[in-house]
Amino acid sequence: MTAPQTSWIDSANDGQTHFPLQNLPYGVFSVKGQSPRVGVAIGDQIVDLAALDDAGLLPAAAKGAFAGTTLNRFIALGKPAWTETRKRLTALLSGEDAALRDNAALRDNAALRDKALVPMSAAALHLPVDIPGYTDFYSSKEHATNVGRMFRDPDNALLPNWLEIPIGYNGRASSVVVSGTPLHRPNGQIKLPNEARPVFSACRKLDFELEMGFIVGKESALGEPVSTADASAHMFGMVLLNDWSARDIQQWEYVPLGPFNSKGFGTSISPWVVTMDALEPFRRDNPEQSPQPLAYLQQQDKNAYDIALEVSLQPEGAPAPSTICRTNFKAMYWTMAQQLAHHTVSGCNVRVGDLMGSGTISGTTPDSYGSMLELTRNGAEPVTLADGSQRGFLQDGDSVIMTGYCQGEGYRVGFGTVSGKILPAR
Ligand code: CA
Repeated sequence: MTAPQTSWIDSANDGQTHFPLQNLPYGVFSVKGQSPRVGVAIGDQIVDLAALDDAGLLPAAAKGAFAGTTLNRFIALGKPAWTETRKRLTALLSGEDAALRDNAALRDNAALRDKALVPMSAAALHLPVDIPGYTDFYSSKEHATNVGRMFRDPDNALLPNWLEIPIGYNGRASSVVVSGTPLHRPNGQIKLPNEARPVFSACRKLDFELEMGFIVGKESALGEPVSTADASAHMFGMVLLNDWSARDIQQWEYVPLGPFNSKGFGTSISPWVVTMDALEPFRRDNPEQSPQPLAYLQQQDKNAYDIALEVSLQPEGAPAPSTICRTNFKAMYWTMAQQLAHHTVSGCNVRVGDLMGSGTISGTTPDSYGSMLELTRNGAEPVTLADGSQRGFLQDGDSVIMTGYCQGEGYRVGFGTVSGKILPAR
């Protein structure tokens, strides 16, 4: 094992932090009384990128890109600028000898350090991207099979189109919120068994869905498909995503056009966007696909990513969260490249900042299911939490916390957390 590269910011080097030198995820933060700014996370610190740019320390290609209150301007610059900026930030923050690495400009400048380094504990984090569109896929074979077993035919759980199409639907971008934003339990139409007509009620089967999302980094033109080979140049980075779901509302409304109010009330994402460059060492072989997909969905590159994921639930007042799911992103049947190729093959264009959800990530074992629906078999077999309480679905006051990371040799490239608390229905 070779020792991992370290930073002169000590908290980045403990092997446990989600934000070592190898990660450098982008986000938007603010400190009391000031407007939001773009930053990069390292250890327990945030580096103010507008401050570095003002000091002339960032590449000319990124000049002015960090002046706004979202990442969109920077993302729109495209892959060469992302890679050059990452290289520059790595050099500035590296702990290696200043003669070898260009790190003295920030490390040895106390006035600039004062201005540009902000402790994460003193900052509020905001939605990192202005999201023009949100699409949610359904790409875990295990999840689709589990749901099909419960609601359709146990012997034919997968619909015939599932193995041919990365199934997806157009979701709501307006209600995508950053981690920490509480959401009210939704109200809606619920059709109770043995009743002729639906009732209007607060959701009684409120659920989470463990997902990851990628942020589109390059727009495509209307009418112009993006191939699986070109897809990676169109992806800026990834976030954790909780696709909150009202199962009872969903079950009544989803025929024939898919989910609507059961999904549209809120989607939570993690505040730090981990770049595809940082995830590069964690690419893995694609899962076996049978039948072989149609030509436009075939892929040559390794498009699976090894990301360990965990979900925990913390009731109001409970001293600690209880882990209820452990799984991994690498087993997803349809890859992000295939999702983007499919999304655009009809000629539908995508825009910088668009969010593409993976679909619920479930593994093969009962403790690896990415929703309460699957973990509890539609509420029939509640999970028991550390404080002894039981849950079939989510109760008011419950917080759901998701986390994930890639394990390197002596370091972790992590996503931090996405959390959200359920407030009572209005
Ligand atoms: Ca979903």
